[in-house]
Amino acid sequence: NRCAVFMRENLLTLMTVIGVLSGTLLGWGLRSSGYEWSKREVMYFQFPGELFLRMLKCLIVPLLVSSIVSAIGSLDLSLSGKVGLRAIIYYMTTTVCAVMLGIALVTTIKPGKDPEAYQQPQPNATKLITKETLTSDTLLDLIRNVFPENIAQATIASYRTKLSYDEKDPTHIKGQLETYKINSDYPSGSNVLGLVCFSVVLGITLGKMGEKGRPLQNFFHSFSEAMMIITGWVIWLSPLGVFFLVTAKIMEIDSFSELVGRLGLYFMTVLLGLFLHGFGTLSILFILATRKLPCRYIAKMGQVMATAFGTASSSATMPITIGCCDEMGLDPRITRFVIPIGATINMDGTALYEAVAAIFIAQLRKVEMSFGKIVAVSVTATAASIGAAGIPQAGLVTMVMVLDTVNLPAEDVSIILAVDWLLDRFRTTINVVCDALGAIIVSSLSQGDIEKNRAEHNERELAN
Ligand code: ASP
Repeated sequence: NRCAVFMRENLLTLMTVIGVLSGTLLGWGLRSSGYEWSKREVMYFQFPGELFLRMLKCLIVPLLVSSIVSAIGSLDLSLSGKVGLRAIIYYMTTTVCAVMLGIALVTTIKPGKDPEAYQQPQPNATKLITKETLTSDTLLDLIRNVFPENIAQATIASYRTKLSYDEKDPTHIKGQLETYKINSDYPSGSNVLGLVCFSVVLGITLGKMGEKGRPLQNFFHSFSEAMMIITGWVIWLSPLGVFFLVTAKIMEIDSFSELVGRLGLYFMTVLLGLFLHGFGTLSILFILATRKLPCRYIAKMGQVMATAFGTASSSATMPITIGCCDEMGLDPRITRFVIPIGATINMDGTALYEAVAAIFIAQLRKVEMSFGKIVAVSVTATAASIGAAGIPQAGLVTMVMVLDTVNLPAEDVSIILAVDWLLDRFRTTINVVCDALGAIIVSSLSQGDIEKNRAEHNERELAN
């Protein structure tokens, strides 16, 4: 009987997980059927999944802006400051722990040692990456994106410096600022970082304006409620959506042979790191901060995890993450404040993977890793994870910055390209789990402040 209740309560989650598993099986069956599936046929298979993804992506910008503005606007300034600070401390702590864990694993397992035995793949598909980019430029771009010069433009594109060398004098670098889209197959290269920053400032301002700011605040509040209602409808499509996305992805992959050998070992190193981070570090932090066991909450996140795995995008999963937190009964003013920010800047899985991948490539290339270089990798891997957009394989693009710190060329990302589509799904899953656990932790730590604030509010109202 308890089993039946559990099944009923978690029906959608179960169906979404079944969607991922059956998609994997069907995709595998179809590719092993002996028939050569053309790109067009795979596209037809993917089509229902593509529609699901489009619906989710359509919600990202309106939901992100309206949630942050309404949540911050409805909290008292000192309270939103405390909540924001706790969230940032949590994001930074977990990201740093993830990077350190990644470095510890890759330097112990050494997946890239003995490179002679390794058949280097042909560099290909580096079309995502601008070849000559320096770490400093990427870092400056990250900061530039925090300050969008045009809000309308920020909803569709972010900035990236593209450098080219002067042909006559190769030491002379010509920098040009260009608006760029990460990947036209996934046209959601919005400057989410800039939008988050703008929304935080607008929320604080509305909170400060008091009565005068109320109309706009009510507008954003009701806008965010409307977006969440639409999200509630879209969520019901997730089992089917992830099923088709996963089936098509498995059909489309050229070969799985890269999963063995050096690249396989690298893959397993990242996977082990993600697992240890999710079930070790994050769980310990959770227990310390909330004095509760995380298992019950993680079980409730099944659907969030399955969607993250199916879409490989934490931004696209964000509406579902917020919905899941609402279902867990968390204060919406906190979840709508911290989840959109977390989905944008808090990517532990990505940080861990950037560090492991850069050191793996350095091992293959026999580049000596001094302590200083390891520190540089940690710092840039953290920055790269903050700068990575919450879209598929964005980490691969920001990886250029980490490679540059160990003097490796940008083209070297092609070494890990073959397995990146799969790793991306696992790291995105950890990224969203970390966001959701963060929302629970920050809610629990802020409970006392919220109650105190409510009491003060009531007292003030009574006095008036
Ligand atoms: N796909 C990841 C995400 O959306 C980012 C990445 O690591 O590529 O969280």
